[in-house]
Amino acid sequence: MTVRPNEEVRQVNRQADPLSAGARDIRRAAQILASRVPGRLAPLAEVAYNFSWTWRPDGEPVFRSIDAYRWRLCRQNPVRLLQEAPEESLERAAMTPSLVARAEALRDAMEADKGRPLREAGDATAEHPVAFFCAEFGLHRSLPVYSGGLGVLAGDILKEASDRALPLMGIGLMYRQGYFHQRVDAGGWQHEYWYGTDPERRACARITGGDGLPLVLKVPVWEEELAAHVWRVDVGKTPLFLLDTDLPENTPKQRFITARLYEGNRQIRLAQYALLGVGGVKLLEALGIEPGIIHMNEGHPAAATLELVGREVARGIPFKEACDRVSRRVVFTTHTPVPAGNETYTREEVEQVMPHLNAQFGMNVESVLGLGRYEPGNPHEPFGMTALAIRMSRSTNGVSRIHGEVSRRLWHSLFPGRSLEQVPIRHVTNGVHMSSWIGPAMRRLLDQYLPRGWHAAEQITDPDTWKAVDDIPDEDIWAVRRAASKRLVGWVRSKTVTDRLTRGDTMEYVMKAANAFDPDVLTLGFARRVATYKRLHLLIQDRERFLRLLEGPRPMQLLYAGKAHPNDDEAKRLIVQFFGLKSDPRTGGRVAFMEDYDMGLAGILTAGCDVWVNLPRPPLEASGTSGMKAAFSGTLNLSVLDGWWAEAYDGSNGWAIDGTEDPNAEAKDARDAAALFDLLEREVIPLYYDRDLQGIPRGWVARIKASLRTIGPRFCATRMLDEYVRDIYTTN
Ligand SMILES: *Cc1c(COP(=O)(O)O)cnc(C)c1O
Repeated sequence: MTVRPNEEVRQVNRQADPLSAGARDIRRAAQILASRVPGRLAPLAEVAYNFSWTWRPDGEPVFRSIDAYRWRLCRQNPVRLLQEAPEESLERAAMTPSLVARAEALRDAMEADKGRPLREAGDATAEHPVAFFCAEFGLHRSLPVYSGGLGVLAGDILKEASDRALPLMGIGLMYRQGYFHQRVDAGGWQHEYWYGTDPERRACARITGGDGLPLVLKVPVWEEELAAHVWRVDVGKTPLFLLDTDLPENTPKQRFITARLYEGNRQIRLAQYALLGVGGVKLLEALGIEPGIIHMNEGHPAAATLELVGREVARGIPFKEACDRVSRRVVFTTHTPVPAGNETYTREEVEQVMPHLNAQFGMNVESVLGLGRYEPGNPHEPFGMTALAIRMSRSTNGVSRIHGEVSRRLWHSLFPGRSLEQVPIRHVTNGVHMSSWIGPAMRRLLDQYLPRGWHAAEQITDPDTWKAVDDIPDEDIWAVRRAASKRLVGWVRSKTVTDRLTRGDTMEYVMKAANAFDPDVLTLGFARRVATYKRLHLLIQDRERFLRLLEGPRPMQLLYAGKAHPNDDEAKRLIVQFFGLKSDPRTGGRVAFMEDYDMGLAGILTAGCDVWVNLPRPPLEASGTSGMKAAFSGTLNLSVLDGWWAEAYDGSNGWAIDGTEDPNAEAKDARDAAALFDLLEREVIPLYYDRDLQGIPRGWVARIKASLRTIGPRFCATRMLDEYVRDIYTTN
């Protein structure tokens, strides 16, 4: 395969806007798909190739109507659905005028959306967009290049940028096997497995040059240059570009770089970061894009700044000045409040992965390494990606008020001579993309009662817009919640029966799931990465007290989910501990572990549970976002006052557990577990079961209203992006 001269792609690109690179390739892929389905379904092929269907209310229902069974088998991937659905299903759909009309409406909405002109975003414009770098992007479960909160946030930012017509492009990696999938055996032990996610069967297209051959980037990683192709993904108006090294011309080791997200092998992981950073800059160059802002989401892409400095140095700019020039348009968001979460590497490791720093740019490796140390001159200190990112950015922010404070403490020594308050790290609290996460029934209810266009950017962040929540009849809110519980329980019953049969559980235990999960029982949800600091174990710290509540006169049930990092045996043992409860007859129908947590499961659980529980050990929850998703659907939060909840809780909109830090982890755990159960027994359970003559828990509904009214305008991605544009993307 020949190396594509960059000039050619640039020329293709010059004719249109800079973000259109590869748009033609997406169009071609959609045309090929359209040619395989009945003509009247052709509009759906276009819809399938743009992730905006995921947040249009009729997107999912239309694809599901074609063939519900196939839709599930394809894991809600519309490209595969249209490729694989049997002839009869496609023909039947094409013969259904209402379905064809809905498909056309989706396509028309998408086209209209594409036609809106891009606006400005602080220093960024359509000609000089924001280049948003991240190691993972969570758009939908059908593109599994994310592991958890960080990726989902990045995905929500792309979606919101599209809604707002902001000039932004994502840059990431196309992991061919994604993050691991999880199976849990009958004893509760987690097993990981991976399978290939063939990009040809996903909503993306390989970018080609003028001659139809793939664009090839040459990226120096390790001792040789490796070749990378680039996939374009359309997220509404926002393009996402994913680099891929799984090409025949690369060695097996090079090909593995884009195999797995957060690969356990350090050398591979560092090579991934080098590819993301250096390769991302090469991509911008190949596309002829001069970004107005480079936004690094977490430290993984920080090598981008070294590549940019190297280019300045090669042009004769002195190192120090080169650093200043680069940092003027780089901004950085940190997400990790734990020192250990900020990865560091030895000098040898860095030299191995980026040998070109020396050779190509003539940069002194010691000065480069110094950028990633607390003390630049200390040769014994390892090189940290976060320190590098902070030093090379004009702005650093954490993702909640508390996390801003924690980050100032954590990185204080990078700013010698400054007091803690003067450390230039601020915060932009996270928010979630409302249209992607709100449950469909709640969406319809709000459409009915909130002012027209309530979800538009100008309105959703205005508290006045949400005042109308108080006018919604309690009956209607409760009906939406009842429907959500029924749907959730129906789904949990069938899934849990299958899971238990698969694990080889006894038939008695299996059948408890079929009959006992109950839509009329208060449902707690706890789902997130299984890590010790998230303290899943607090739920069963006092085992008897927990079990009593399951079968009390006013019972509760628990759905929990989450993946432990493959190397984190301590976290894996937490799930085993929970499975130890199986021997108690009270749990079979009241507690279920939902395997293989992903965005699909997150949507189902956050929308359908009654209470969303979060128990991080303060101050280790940078923000947390799943509770925001829950709130949008009328699920109430019960959480430790850490991360976002410390800003959201006001006494009326959920429940809170003390968030003060305590170095004595054991004492803190005991106190917080007791506080959790006190709240459940004295407040949550009574309020839920306290019904009036119409069967409505008025106090509970009042809390749902308070939660929607207070959380809706503030913890949506619209408010978050407003702040990024105003405070971070704008030079002041
Ligand atoms: C929203 C989401 C998260 C984030 O969860 P938190 O624990 O609240 O940060 C993680 N994983 C998935 C799949 C999500 O959708």
